[in-house]
Amino acid sequence: MFIPHARLSCGFDTSFLQLPEKFYQLCSPTPVTAPELRLFNHELAEELELPFNSEEPELTACLAGNLLFADSQPLAMAYAGHQFGSFVPQLGDGRAILLGEKVTADGRRFDLQLKGSGITRFSRNGDGRAALGPVLREYIVSEAMHALGVPTTRSLAVLTSGEKVVRSEGALPGAILVRVASGLVRTGTFEYFSARNDEEAIRQLAEYVIARHYQESAESEKPFHHLFAAIASAGARLTAQWMALGFIHGVLNTDNIAVSGETIDYGPCAFMDNYHPNRVFSSIDFSGRYRYSAQGSVMKWNLHRLGSCLLPLFGQDGEEFIETVTGSFEQEFLQLLTKAMLCKIGVEAPHKGDSSLLQELLALMQKEETDFTLTFHHLAECIDGDTTPFCTLFHNNTELPSWLKKWQTRIKTEEPATTSQRMKGVNPLFIPRNHRIEQAILAAQERDDFTPARKLLQLLQTPFTEQPEFAAFAKAPKVEERVLQTFCGT
Ligand code: AMP
Ligand code: MG
Repeated sequence: MFIPHARLSCGFDTSFLQLPEKFYQLCSPTPVTAPELRLFNHELAEELELPFNSEEPELTACLAGNLLFADSQPLAMAYAGHQFGSFVPQLGDGRAILLGEKVTADGRRFDLQLKGSGITRFSRNGDGRAALGPVLREYIVSEAMHALGVPTTRSLAVLTSGEKVVRSEGALPGAILVRVASGLVRTGTFEYFSARNDEEAIRQLAEYVIARHYQESAESEKPFHHLFAAIASAGARLTAQWMALGFIHGVLNTDNIAVSGETIDYGPCAFMDNYHPNRVFSSIDFSGRYRYSAQGSVMKWNLHRLGSCLLPLFGQDGEEFIETVTGSFEQEFLQLLTKAMLCKIGVEAPHKGDSSLLQELLALMQKEETDFTLTFHHLAECIDGDTTPFCTLFHNNTELPSWLKKWQTRIKTEEPATTSQRMKGVNPLFIPRNHRIEQAILAAQERDDFTPARKLLQLLQTPFTEQPEFAAFAKAPKVEERVLQTFCGT
């Protein structure tokens, strides 16, 4: 479809267009009836040095896909992917369109992409659209993740389309998410070309990823080996960070794994409230493949898939190299996770016995189903303050006092003056809780009221800081308020 260009430009410099056309489809968004700009991330717009603000008259039309930025040559990316373990040779951006890449003065490059902007060659049977609920969820959770210090795609804007989309729940308000990524190449992008035995494309893509994300690999004697190891390390760091926050991605299919090491494709994701290692929220994850505690082993499995794609670039002993790197991934992930979890209980310089101290706490938490976030947050107060908020989480469990005593004795050997501060710096008080997200979605969906979403976004910007005016948002949901299932909304 022909879409007119606006006078407004973004300052795009789209490097992906330099790759051959088999990597994408040049295509435009499909205009929507009555777009309205509902959320706009001013801070992010500034960070990206976008040459406009939300008052710009042409902006809504450009972000809705009703007009094209003057310097935009939009495209949909090709990719494949393993979905719940089964290979699908063609997925691709079925409802997303890359508007362009923006480079900031300090040389950082960002993709600006619309999600829910209409069908592309990769849409299969989908309508190319997105419902407001999942769009708001992605905006809120991705911005919260950023504030929590986790590498992630970000969200620039939410627009309602004025159109309905039909999903299993019925006709829902449609919306478009404008998201920003440091890069959108996925493990599945490599798999797309591997499935077609296109070694040249794999090499071009690997070179592209090195130039964009892993420049240090170019300096190495074996750039592709170095690249694979660097991607593995980034994945290990990311997965450990998710788990230390009680985050469950929900759909760790290889098409949802960005090689940049950023969290991407927020679907039926969730921060767990009450702790259980086998916690699953996604309505489509019947076997628990992507449950909380399986995320490390699943990311290792995904890394194997990427390794197989890169095999033709490794030359001799490639298979062995893949085993070495996936083995190191596992080690690095476990080390980082242990370190992060020990930091959560105030231990910076681990001693013998600290791991069992942690395991004992986790066992108690599981038994009493205590709130993951609040347990760690309130533990910090037990050093020199009131132990009540922590202890009441455990419903007077008889094993708790002896654990607490043991922990207090141990923690005295750390730097006592700073331990409590350190713990509060890694144990947030505010996370995007499911029931709060649902409330924000309902208000927007049913009453066109985006105030709850804005409020949530505001308080999630400083997740580690006490904010007395928002105290209610730190609380765990009552049992009847708990949201136990999340949906991908496709
Ligand atoms: P996801 O589950 O969102 O990661 O999407 C998996 C694949 O399905 C990707 O190729 C998406 O582009 C595609 N997809 C999801 N929802 C839709 C939709 N409503 N219309 C077209 N394609 C979609
Ligand atoms: Mg996806």
